[in-house]
Amino acid sequence: MARLVLKFGGTSVADIDRIERAADKVAKEYNAGHELAVVVSAMSGVTNQLVAYCSSVSTMYDAREYDTVVSSGEQITAGLMAIALQKRGIPARSWMGWQIPIICDDIHGKSRIIEIPTEEIETRFKGDEVLVLAGFQGITSKNRIATLGRGGSDTSAVALAAALKAERCDIYTDVNGIYTTDPRIVPDARRIKQISYEEMLELASLGAKVLQNRSVEMAMKNNVSLQVLSSFEDSIGSELPGTLVTKEENIMEKPVVSGIAFSQNEAKISIIDIPDSPGIAAKIFEPISKANIIIDMIVQDISEDGKVTSITFVVPQDDAAKAGKVLGDLDILKDADIRIKDDVAKISVVGIGMRTHAGVAEKMFKTLAEKNINIDVIAASEIKISVLISQEYTELAVRALHKAYHLEEPEA
Ligand code: ADP
Ligand code: ASP
Ligand code: MG
Repeated sequence: MARLVLKFGGTSVADIDRIERAADKVAKEYNAGHELAVVVSAMSGVTNQLVAYCSSVSTMYDAREYDTVVSSGEQITAGLMAIALQKRGIPARSWMGWQIPIICDDIHGKSRIIEIPTEEIETRFKGDEVLVLAGFQGITSKNRIATLGRGGSDTSAVALAAALKAERCDIYTDVNGIYTTDPRIVPDARRIKQISYEEMLELASLGAKVLQNRSVEMAMKNNVSLQVLSSFEDSIGSELPGTLVTKEENIMEKPVVSGIAFSQNEAKISIIDIPDSPGIAAKIFEPISKANIIIDMIVQDISEDGKVTSITFVVPQDDAAKAGKVLGDLDILKDADIRIKDDVAKISVVGIGMRTHAGVAEKMFKTLAEKNINIDVIAASEIKISVLISQEYTELAVRALHKAYHLEEPEA
């Protein structure tokens, strides 16, 4: 007997028929004698609709009320999943975030989970109950519902798996594992058998939405065994493995390049020709970070006479207007030329083998040059290289790079 957390994403609970199929999988694991917590997303499309409702009432909506609205999709699927399980003779009970409670901070819209008390769940497990949790939501210390950022049900599932010390967290989705890149863009992308937390964290942070990046971060910190698998295949997680996300030392193969991620949800902000004085970068980035805006790539140039400088950086597109406002309100930038460009894309090549292999960046730049794609900004770390390019070349760049690194070839 094992303790498992099973998470079903939006397409896996998109309608009653799919909820029934997901319930069949849960039943199979239950009948095999496992202790189960099931985490569900909203039916696919529902959260987008709820977000659109908020924007249609007001573009300046209060983030706490946004959370009240957008968290509601998961309530429906949690209840339906519990009914579907009860119909199969399984003692299941639905739980909202506030009922467990999933305690999280009050950064509404992108809240982080702080703690999950488990005594009540343990008691229920002893009574043979299956817990069905509405993903994506928690409760703040101010007693308000908060949501965990788009794709946040993955994080609900991993956090629960960590709190319950589950043997595995199975993420059921509409692809049968993690691929070398999004298989919707590159049809001959290859399924990866095992990937390290570090690589998956980079891929997820850089745009591979198959897992929310915070879920990978949490899995890495708590050593949760994470598996991504298809809800459309007949097998269950205990039978047919999907892709396992695990510790680097468990992985035999350490490919130089494991995958390619891309994101079109980016905006480039340039502050042109501001006086170059010590502390200018701190003065600019401090208020940006206080506004909870995450910056990824940064470039600073100096003019020929060394008196002025230009700073360019990249923020999530959804935060671009807010970042522009924060900068516009700064005294030191009151006469500055601030430009925001959002028809950009970030393309990233990720692999732990890069630590010990040279030439990966060179190949990336050469491949893009051969396709006549101009690179705007570059950022690199030990295990990734990212470039910012014009959005219209996203697919061309991803396909060319996938080929250049021979990622379609089967793993040795
Ligand atoms: P869910 O609704 O189950 O949470 P998501 O839509 O959030 O599912 O994530 C699954 C999708 O992630 C896939 O349909 C696929 O298009 C996309 N994706 C992006 N990058 C990758 C990748 N490297 N491997 C697999 N899927 C990827
Ligand atoms: N329903 C939420 C979303 O669409 C959370 C999730 O699906 O993980 O972002
Ligand atoms: Mg998702």
